[in-house]
Amino acid sequence: MELIREHINELNLFGLVPEDVEVLLTHCLQNNFFRFNENFYKQSDGIAMGSRIAPSLAIVFMGKLEAEALQVDRPQPDMYVRYIDDIWCLWTHGSEALTEYLAFLNSRHPAIQFTIERSDQDGTLPYLDTLISVRQDGSYSTELYFKPMAAPIILPYDSAHARSTKKAVLTSQITRAIRLGSDTAARKRGLEKIRHLFVSNGYPMKMIKEYSWREMKKHEERSRDRGRERRERPDQRQQNKKKQGTYIRLPFVNDKVAAQVKKVAINSGLPVEIAWTTNNTLKKRLVKTRLNPAPCPSGRRCCHSCQAGLQSKCTTKNVVYELTCSHCGDTYIGETSRPVRLRYNEHRRNGINREEDTPLGEHALHKHPEMDRRDISVTAKILRVCKDEADRRIAESIFIRDARPKINDNTTSWQLLPK
Ligand SMILES: [Zn+2]
Ligand SMILES: [Zn+2]
Repeated sequence: MELIREHINELNLFGLVPEDVEVLLTHCLQNNFFRFNENFYKQSDGIAMGSRIAPSLAIVFMGKLEAEALQVDRPQPDMYVRYIDDIWCLWTHGSEALTEYLAFLNSRHPAIQFTIERSDQDGTLPYLDTLISVRQDGSYSTELYFKPMAAPIILPYDSAHARSTKKAVLTSQITRAIRLGSDTAARKRGLEKIRHLFVSNGYPMKMIKEYSWREMKKHEERSRDRGRERRERPDQRQQNKKKQGTYIRLPFVNDKVAAQVKKVAINSGLPVEIAWTTNNTLKKRLVKTRLNPAPCPSGRRCCHSCQAGLQSKCTTKNVVYELTCSHCGDTYIGETSRPVRLRYNEHRRNGINREEDTPLGEHALHKHPEMDRRDISVTAKILRVCKDEADRRIAESIFIRDARPKINDNTTSWQLLPK
C-alpha cells in the first residue's frame, strides 16, 4: 500500500481508490484455503503458493526490507543483487563482519530469516542457475549451474507435446547454457550439462548435437557482429514476415493429427498459424480459486437434488441417472428428458410418502417400513447425458441390464437380452 500511495499518479487503478485496493488485497491474502485428505485448512500466515499476487508481493516486500537495510550506516556489500528472495552479494569486509551482517539482516523482520552460502577459496558461488567466480583482481567468469540435488527432469521426448514445443525447450536450454557461459570453455561445460539432461529425458543425441552446434554458430556470429552495424539477417526477415498471420489455438492430440491439420491450414492459403496448446496442466489440476462447490444452477438456495449428489448438474436434461438408497444401498436406474432435478424430486416425494406403484414408494414400504419418513434419503448420480430419446432409452436399458438395479421393476425400460 505504501508503494501504491507513493506512485498513485503513475498508476491506473481503474476507478478504484487505494483504500479499495487495500480491502481487495486483504481479502486475497487472508482467505487462502487448501484441502488435505478430506479436511479444509485456512492458511494463517504467508502467501499461498500459486497465488497470482504472490510474486509481486514478495518482490515489493523484499524491496522495502532491503531499501531500509542498505541505508543503515554499517559495513555494506560492494555489490548487491536480488531475484525475488535470492540475493547475491560481493563482500570485501572479511568473514567475521559478514556473519554480523547476516545477523543484522535477520533482525529486520521476524518472518524473514536468511541463510547464507559463502564462496569457496576460488571465489566461486552459485546464484540461481549461474555459477559465478570472482578473482582477486576483480575479473570474473560465469557458467550454467545446476543444483546438485536438482532432479534431471525436463519435458520428456515421448511426451504428448508438439514437436515444435520439444524443439523450443531444447533450443531455449541450449541458448541458456551459451548465454551464461562467459568464455568458450564455460559454454562447452554448460552445453555438456544440457546434453546430459536431455539424453536422460530421451532426446536423440543427434538432435541435441545439431541444435547445440547451430546455436553456438549463431552465438559466434552475433559476437562477431557486435560493434558493427546491426544488420537484419535474411532468414530473420523471413521469419518476421511469416509471423504476421492470425494464430489459431488448438489442443494438441498427437504429431500425426497436428501434421494433418497443418497441411489443411497450408493448403487453405490463408494467413493462419497454428499454436498447439495443452489444457491439462498440473496447475489447472492442483490450483483452484473456488472453495465452495458451485451453487445450484436452478438458482435455489436449497436444492434436494444438488445435495443428493447432482451438485451443479441438477438442471441437466436428457439423462440416464442412478439413485441409491442411503440406508440399504439398493439402486434404481431411470431416464428423463426433463431437468433431472424434477424427476429426482418426484422420486424423493414418492419415497417419503410411501406411494404405491412407484419404485421408491414401494422400496420404502417394503424394505424400510419402520423408518421415519423424514429419514428416507436417496443419493443421485448422472450415468450419461444423452443426445436424443433413442440414445437415452437404449443407454438406460443397457445400464439396467448390466447393473441389475434392485429397485427397478423392469417394466418401464426396454427389455434387452442378458449379455
Ligand atoms: Zn440444484
Ligand atoms: Zn433402501
